[in-house]
Amino acid sequence: MTALVPAWFWAGCAALLGLVIGSFLNVVVYRMPRGMSVVGVGSPSACPSCGHHITWAENVPVASYLVLRGRCSACRGAISVRYPVVEAGTAVLFALIGYRFAADPWVIPAWLLLAALAVALSGIDIDTYTLPDPLVAACYWGGGLLLLGASVLGTAGPEALGRAGIGLVASAVFHFVAWFCYPRGMGFGDVKLSGAIAMYLGWLGWGPLVIGVFASYLLGLLGAVPVLWARRHHPDRHSGPHDQDPAVTSRGIPFGPFMFAGAVVGVVAGTPLSDLYLHLTGLR
Ligand SMILES: [Zn+2]
Repeated sequence: MTALVPAWFWAGCAALLGLVIGSFLNVVVYRMPRGMSVVGVGSPSACPSCGHHITWAENVPVASYLVLRGRCSACRGAISVRYPVVEAGTAVLFALIGYRFAADPWVIPAWLLLAALAVALSGIDIDTYTLPDPLVAACYWGGGLLLLGASVLGTAGPEALGRAGIGLVASAVFHFVAWFCYPRGMGFGDVKLSGAIAMYLGWLGWGPLVIGVFASYLLGLLGAVPVLWARRHHPDRHSGPHDQDPAVTSRGIPFGPFMFAGAVVGVVAGTPLSDLYLHLTGLR
C-alpha cells in the first residue's frame, strides 16, 4: 500500500494542511493568553491597530502577508512577521512529518497533532513564560489516543506503546528532580510537558528518547547565552509586556521551545546517533 502512495504525496498534503493549521495557531497564540475564545465564531480577526475586520482574502496563509507587504489594508499599520513565519513554519514541520512517516502513515496524525501543539505552546511560552494546561493535556490525551491507534493499525506494534509509557514516566521523574533541585532552570509547566514529549520519542525508539532529552538541554544552554547577553546589554530593546512580572524577570528563558527543538533532533537523528554511540563504545 505504501508503495502506491509516495512520500512526497504525504509531504505535500501535510504542507497544505500545515498552512491552514498554522493560520489557526496564530489565533491560538494571540488569544489564549488573553483569555479570548480561540474558536472565534462571531468574532472575526481584526487589525490590532485600527480594528479593521480582516476579510477571507486578507487571511490566506503567507500569501496575503506578501501581497499586503506586511501592512494592514485599512490603516497601513505593520502586521507582525510572526504570522507568516508561524504559517510557513507549521507547513514545513507538517511536510517533514509526512515525509518521515510515509512508510507507516497511520502514525502521521499523532505527530501532526504534536507539531501543531508544539507551535502553539512555543509561541505562548515565548510571549508569557507559561505553558497552558489545556494544550499540555491535549499532548497527553490526543497524542496517547493517536499513538494507540497507530500501534493497532500500523506497523509499530505493542512494544512501541510500552516504550512510550516508560519514556513518559522516566522523563517526567527526571525533569521533576531537575526542577526540584534547581527551580530557576525551568518552570513546573516544563516538567508537565516533558512527559508528553517523552511519550512520543519513546514510542519512536530508545535512541530518539535519549537523544531528544539530551538535545533539549544542550540547545537550551546554547540558546540561553545570546538571549541573556542581549538582555543584559540592551534591556530596553528586549523588554516585553510581562517583564514587570517578578515571576518572569527572575526566570532565564522559556524552556518549552527548546524541549520541542530537542524532540526534532531526537526524531531526525536519534536512531543513527545512538547506534553510532553504541558502536563506538563497543556496546553493540
Ligand atoms: Zn489596521
